[in-house]
Amino acid sequence: MAESAASSSSSSSSGSAGSAGSAGSAGWSGSRPGALPPATSAAPAGRTRRILICSTPVGPLGSGIGGGVELTLHSLVLGLTARGHHVEVVAPEGSLHVGARVHQIAGAPQTSSQTVGRDAPIEMPARPVLGAMWDWVREHQAHFDVVLNLAYDWLPVYLTPFLDVPVAHLVSMGSLNEAMDVALADLLEVRPGAAAVHSRAQAATFPAIADRLRVVGNGIAVERYDVHLTADEPRHLGFVGRISPEKGIDDVFAIAQATGLPVKAWGLMQDEACWREAAAQYPGAQVTYEGFLATDDLQAAIGGCAALLMTPKWVEAFGNVAIEAMACGVPVIAYRRGGPAEIVVDGETGFLVDPDDIDGAILAVSRLGEIDRLMCRQRVDERYSTDALAERVDAWLGDLIRLDARV
Ligand code: UDP
Repeated sequence: MAESAASSSSSSSSGSAGSAGSAGSAGWSGSRPGALPPATSAAPAGRTRRILICSTPVGPLGSGIGGGVELTLHSLVLGLTARGHHVEVVAPEGSLHVGARVHQIAGAPQTSSQTVGRDAPIEMPARPVLGAMWDWVREHQAHFDVVLNLAYDWLPVYLTPFLDVPVAHLVSMGSLNEAMDVALADLLEVRPGAAAVHSRAQAATFPAIADRLRVVGNGIAVERYDVHLTADEPRHLGFVGRISPEKGIDDVFAIAQATGLPVKAWGLMQDEACWREAAAQYPGAQVTYEGFLATDDLQAAIGGCAALLMTPKWVEAFGNVAIEAMACGVPVIAYRRGGPAEIVVDGETGFLVDPDDIDGAILAVSRLGEIDRLMCRQRVDERYSTDALAERVDAWLGDLIRLDARV
């Protein structure tokens, strides 16, 4: 993210989304694959709400440790503020400014859930920032109409019925841990409608509750991304994401070696060992690590790629980087697995290949000339603007507040 650092007393609340159009229908819950509706109207619906967004406790906003959640939070601030809502944020100390007041909370970070096992018990460090964030919520809840939780953690889910304010949980990853699955299922028994996800594939990873999870997709400030109608020479491919086993950097090296095309990789170096192993396995691959960039710099850097490679080994809940690349006019070559399979239109905005099919990805690279890069951008303008995201989320929050009033 490209914002300047905020102090605990920062109080700007003037985000501006400004991208064209927003989805018109309230209450959409995404019942068909790839069915995110196009944006249709810019008019805010319903009354102004006071919304508190709770960030992830794994790291401060701007650190990259929170992965796509950090950008999602920023998009929600921009989109919901543009619809006339008053938005504030609670986040770990050291977070960057995101266009709304950020209440910075001290404490020990939570371990990222993707690094613990399915049967792992819930763990909490001494003086946890997660606990402190939710203490803050409890103390200040009367000032808000609704809390929007982005943390993939057991504690806020468990605490929800103990609070007076309705809490909406936007679940950022697929099913990873039994204790979390059970907590979500229990929550939906007492608070129907209190959880949403980014894609249908993500919902399907929670079989017991899949049909009760609302699908809201995701969105970005499209106007902050420049379209590159042609790829740069010499031709190269791109990878954007955390360098970690679940993101499949080894398959990126394999594709680089087989195609002979250089690959530039941007993202947080979370697991250096998995990078080194991939490099050793594919010594002919020209893959260069380009560091972790703020959003404005990232979009400028990736626009010249001939394509973005997405070869994740897990069910990617959404894959923000797919819509970021497409916003720059960059087609996406992705495994037909998880969120990217619902974002990429095969043959139009990139190519979908069978999961783990490296040969399929190599073939797709040879077909990139068939893609009109402007189509990639248009798809994002229509479905994945901050306005479109905010309208879907706003409809969800409105429904939840109404339901909660009846509990
Ligand atoms: N990102 C970034 N700078 C970089 C590389 C990645 O800010 O140099 C961000 C990117 O914008 C995206 C996030 O990292 O929002 C990755 O999110 P994604 O949903 O693709 O995957 P996650 O990390 O959540 O699994």
